[in-house]
Amino acid sequence: MLELLREVGALLEGHFLLSSGKHSSKYIQCAKIFERPGYGEKIGKAIAEKIAAHKPDVVIGPALGGIILAYEVARHVNARAMFTEREDGQMKLRRNFHIKEGERVAIVEDVTTTGKSVLEVAGVVQEYGGQVCCIASIVDRSVGKLPFDVPFYSLVKLELPVFEPDDCPLCRQNVPLVKPGSRKHSS
Ligand code: ZN
Repeated sequence: MLELLREVGALLEGHFLLSSGKHSSKYIQCAKIFERPGYGEKIGKAIAEKIAAHKPDVVIGPALGGIILAYEVARHVNARAMFTEREDGQMKLRRNFHIKEGERVAIVEDVTTTGKSVLEVAGVVQEYGGQVCCIASIVDRSVGKLPFDVPFYSLVKLELPVFEPDDCPLCRQNVPLVKPGSRKHSS
């Protein structure tokens, strides 16, 4: 799976400014997996195999990273696919998506770090009376510190090196700092 991430250019090596303000020598860009539908399908199927026993009625993911993933996983577990998105900072179910009371809902995400957005999605599911049956992500970079109380699955566990900006070996080597997504990467 790690090989696949490298192959599609989803695992980048360099000097990156993370959204937390910290620096890292690696970055994961899961959107690159779905650039090739064949890979996206393969990933969706791999997650579907892990969660199928929970028999979800709905597979849901947070926009943007969870949209195609939820769709691909839902295809293989024969469930409905939907996504949440933020409106004024609040995670919501829009576009006339609806979860029925008592439905079993699997939450999927591309990369799980703190689990914060997954918990926000879980809050939305509960507002509708749905039941979160399991959670899954492609990459788990939480180092086992996730606050989930339902079964959690991932395809790959990855510990990324993280440096404080004022104590970063890459800064000391004058490697140019890149804000992911803001310019083209050679890999
Ligand atoms: Zn740095």
